[in-house]
Amino acid sequence: MTDHPSIDKDALRRKYREERDKRLRPDGNDQYLRLRGTLARYLDDPYTPRTEREPRTDHVTVAFIGGGFAGLVTGARLKEAGVEDVRVIEKGGDFGGTWYWNRYPGAQCDTASLVYMPLLEETGHMPTEKYAHGPEILEHCRRIGKHYDLYDNALFHTEVQSLEWDERRSRWRVRTDRGDDFTAQFVAMGIGPLHVPKLPGIPGIQSFGGHSFHTSRWDYAYTGGDPLGAPMDRLADKRVAVIGTGATAVQCVPHLARACGRLYVFQRTPSSVDVRDNRPIDPEWFAKIATPGWQRRWLENFTANQAGGAAEDDLVMDGWTDISRRYRGRIQELDELTPETMRAAFEDSDFEKMEEIRARVDAVVRDRETARKLKAWYRQLCKRPCFHDEYLQAFNTPGTHLVDTDGKGVERITPDGVVAAGEEYEVDCVIYASGFEVGTDYTRRAGYDLTGRGGVRLSDHWAQGMRSLHGIHVHGFPNAFLVQPTQGANLISNIPHNLTEAGRTIALIVKYALDHGHEEVEVTKEAEDAWVELLLSGPGPLLGSPDCTPGYYNNEGQDLGLRGRLNVGYPHGAMAYFGYLERWRTSDAFDGLEFRSAKALYD
Ligand code: NDP
Repeated sequence: MTDHPSIDKDALRRKYREERDKRLRPDGNDQYLRLRGTLARYLDDPYTPRTEREPRTDHVTVAFIGGGFAGLVTGARLKEAGVEDVRVIEKGGDFGGTWYWNRYPGAQCDTASLVYMPLLEETGHMPTEKYAHGPEILEHCRRIGKHYDLYDNALFHTEVQSLEWDERRSRWRVRTDRGDDFTAQFVAMGIGPLHVPKLPGIPGIQSFGGHSFHTSRWDYAYTGGDPLGAPMDRLADKRVAVIGTGATAVQCVPHLARACGRLYVFQRTPSSVDVRDNRPIDPEWFAKIATPGWQRRWLENFTANQAGGAAEDDLVMDGWTDISRRYRGRIQELDELTPETMRAAFEDSDFEKMEEIRARVDAVVRDRETARKLKAWYRQLCKRPCFHDEYLQAFNTPGTHLVDTDGKGVERITPDGVVAAGEEYEVDCVIYASGFEVGTDYTRRAGYDLTGRGGVRLSDHWAQGMRSLHGIHVHGFPNAFLVQPTQGANLISNIPHNLTEAGRTIALIVKYALDHGHEEVEVTKEAEDAWVELLLSGPGPLLGSPDCTPGYYNNEGQDLGLRGRLNVGYPHGAMAYFGYLERWRTSDAFDGLEFRSAKALYD
C-alpha cells in the first residue's frame, strides 16, 4: 500500500464549495457579448487580405465546411479513397482553423505533438518539439492541404449561410456570403468548438478609448513582434491589461510580461498550472520510433492510458496521462471495487494532484499574496488543466501585476482603463483572453442552420439536445456528416484523435456509396434512437459537474438538463469506441445506415 500525504478532505471540499459559490451567477452564457454590430470589428482577419473572386455555381462531390483539422483529415481520407472532388469552405484566409486564428505569442499545443498533429506519418513530418508551437502547427495544416491537393478547390474567407437538402435531386444546395450557390452530393461539417470569440459583458466595454483586441486576432501591428517569437518591441512604454486567465492567457502572459512597460493580469478564477517540461524532439530518437504505423500506435497508447484501455506502457508520459495514472494506481489499491470506492479513489487522487499544483505556486511565485491568489481551488478537470513553465514565473517580473477579482470579474471599463474591486487601472491597451462560445447552440456557432428532408431544420431536430449515430450521422439529413467528438469517443485530451477517426469513417461511407451507385445515405430513425438510448445509459457527462467552479466545461454552472446529458461519449470509453467504430465501418454493412440508389428513389 502506497503512503499518501494526509489531506484534510473536508476542509478542501468546503473551500472548493465556497470558491465555486462566489462565482455562480444567474446569467450563465448570457454574461458574454456576441460579436455583432460595432463589436464585429473584433472578428476582422488581421492576417490575410481578402481577395475578390467570382461566385461558384457548380457541383462538387463533397463540400466540407471548416478548414481546420476536421476538414483537413476528412479531406485527406477522401482523397486517399479516390474521391477527388472535395471542396473545403473556410471563413479564415487559409487552412488551420483554430491555428489560423490563434497566433498570439506563445501559442502552443497542450497535447504532445506526436499524437496531436494529425497525419504526421502520411506527410513525413517530424515535429520539432514535444509540444509544438502555433506557427509549426499552422505550417503543418498547410502541408496537409498541399500534400492532399486540397487548395485548388478551397474557398477561403467564405462563410456558409445556408445548407438545404434538395430532395428532388438528392443534392445539398450550399449558399455563402460570397454569393456562391452550388450543389454538393455530400456535405461534411467540422466547425470546431472554439472558433467564435466572445467578450465579457463588462459595463462600459465600448467606451474604452485605448486600443483593444481579442487574443484570437492578435494585433502585431500594435504590439510589434510576430508569432514566431520576435519580441513585441512596441509595448515597452505601454500599460497593458489582459482580461482572463484561461489556457490562452497562461501561454501569452509570459511574453507580455517580458515586453510591456506595465502589465495587469485581471483574474476571475485561477487556472491550475502544472509542469510543462517541453523539449526538442531528437531526430535520432524519432527515426527509431517512426516505424510504419507509428502514429496510430502512439494515438492508441495515449488514448488507452486515459480512456479505458489496457496499455502496459505510457509513451507520451505527461500531465494528461498522469491524471489517469494516479487514478488507476488508487484503484489498484482498493480491496473492494464499488462505485463509491471508485469515486472516492478518484477524489483522493485529484486532491493529491491539486495539492501539488498549489504547492508549485508557492515554490515559484515570490510574493506571498500573489502566490495565494494564483492557487486554484477546484478539482483538476473542473476547468481546462493548463501546463506551463513560465506563466507563474511571469508574476516575479517587475512591472507584472496580478489583479485578482475574488471571483467577481472586472467591474467596469472606462475610457481610460479597467476597474476591479473599486480601483481603476489606467491602461493603453486591453487584450481580451476571454475565450470562445462553447455552450451556445451548434447552429448559432456554425452561422447557418441545415434544412434537411421535409424542410426540417437541424435546430428543430436538436431542440431537446443533440441526436445522432456516432456523433456523425443525423436522421433526416441524408448525405450530411458531422466531424466532432460529442456522441462519439468524446476524448477531450486529444481532439484530433476523434476527428481522424470520424474522417476515416466518412471517407469509407462516401466511397462505398459512390462505388455502389447510391445517391443517398442516411441513418435510420431506429438506429439514431438506439444510439441516443445507449448514450443515456452511460455514467453521464465526463466533465461539467455542477459541483465545479463555473466555466465552459459545465455550461457556466447552469444545468442543461437532457441537453447536457446528451453531451456525452460512448459509455464504455474512448478506446472501446474506436475499436467498435473500426469494426462497424470495416464490416461493409454500416449497420443503421440506409443507402438509396437512384432507381429506388425514382421508382
Ligand atoms: P477560456 O474560456 O478558457 O478563458 C476565458 C477567461 O476569461 C477565463 O479565465 C475567465 O474567467 C475570464 N473571464 C471571463 N469573463 C471575465 C470577466 N468579466 N472578468 C475577468 N475575467 C473574465 O478561454 P481561453 O481562450 O483561455 O481558452 C479556451 C480554450 O481553448 C481552452 O480551454 C482550451 O481548450 C483551448 N486552448 C487550447 C490550447 C492548446 O494547447 N491547444 C491553448 C489555448 C487554448 P473564469 O474562469 O472565471 O470564467
